[in-house]
Amino acid sequence: MNLQDKRLDEYAALLVRIGVNIQKGQTLVIACPVDCAWFARKCAAAAYEAGCREVVMNWKDDALTRMRYLQAEDSVFDVTPVWQQEFYNNYAKEGAAYLVISATDPMNLAGVDTERVTRVTRATGRDFAVFYAGQMNNSFPWCIGSVPIPSWACKVFPDKSEEEAMDALWEAIFAAVRVSGKGDAVARWQEHTARLAARTKILNDYRFASLHYKNALGTDFTVQLPKGHLWMGGADVSRAGNPFIANMPTEEIFTAPDKETANGVIYASMPLVEDGNIIRGIRFRVENGKIVEATADEGQDVLRAAITVDEGASYFGELALVPYDSPISNQKILFYNTLFDENAACHIAFGEAYPCIENGENMSREELGAHGLNYSITHVDFMIGTPDLSITGITADGKEIPVFVDGNFAF
Ligand code: ZN
Ligand code: ZN
Repeated sequence: MNLQDKRLDEYAALLVRIGVNIQKGQTLVIACPVDCAWFARKCAAAAYEAGCREVVMNWKDDALTRMRYLQAEDSVFDVTPVWQQEFYNNYAKEGAAYLVISATDPMNLAGVDTERVTRVTRATGRDFAVFYAGQMNNSFPWCIGSVPIPSWACKVFPDKSEEEAMDALWEAIFAAVRVSGKGDAVARWQEHTARLAARTKILNDYRFASLHYKNALGTDFTVQLPKGHLWMGGADVSRAGNPFIANMPTEEIFTAPDKETANGVIYASMPLVEDGNIIRGIRFRVENGKIVEATADEGQDVLRAAITVDEGASYFGELALVPYDSPISNQKILFYNTLFDENAACHIAFGEAYPCIENGENMSREELGAHGLNYSITHVDFMIGTPDLSITGITADGKEIPVFVDGNFAF
């Protein structure tokens, strides 16, 4: 077996064994582009080998998605078929593992009416509520991983031929997910998640009342953290008690802000790719948690549409810490894919908060809201990390503790 085949097998097994951590007798749902069926087969083989009950496919296709947005009857964008609701919600109730092979042309929805995309987000948010709630509170194990497709690879490496771009994107992904072909990926992930867990514990032990972000780009804002907030990172634990890794790669440690407490100015440090549009030069002014001014050098309309999908979309739901010095960030590549780009830099999300609070997974939406956690049907990460970013944690008794110095963890 050549090196490439070894790495592919190691990667598929990693997603199944460590990513969703498939258990004997458990159903595995795989969402995958039809172009990557060959890779889904590798994942399915690894799952059956681990004693999986059944692999069920949820096929995706960029071209058909685009065609539907452009040409389907307008009424279809507000409804979801009952069979699809049952597909998502019933597998979620069953506790089936959900593996997403995310590979899409970043420009696939360019020129599509953004209103239609927003309506679909609303309809699926409403109709697949059991699925999305289960994903948010870890009632079933899920994992998102990526494999290259030519349209995506050529966007990331515009100066290379299609074949060279595919090879380069594979190399970048293997480096990001710590797959070498030597069979040590599982051990390296155990080491990596242990390091994330150690830093998470340090952050949780400080019980910060607020954070202050500042860099030369112009970001200068403060935000309070809810009482009982929890920093999370690395492995999650499903309701059935099994660890899983929701994103591969993952470099972040994150928590949720108290939704009405952010104040100041925030500059994005990288472009944001949203529904096939590239938004560059984002600047937000925030008052009492709400984005009161949103400007961008490019894609401002798309940005403003994204933060007004619903009431919660103009409030923040996530604060994530990612060292500037990490295997993804060090590659200095814009992936045009949030899975990678969000793990290259500190980021904030507008929209839904994960229940990052003591006992949060058992709280209703109203209870989470009462603790200051934001609710929205959307959740969009934008990057704010720079090599000079400083983040200071302020404890309840007013002590100032450096959390980030010059773009990296102070501890
Ligand atoms: Zn994040
Ligand atoms: Zn996020």
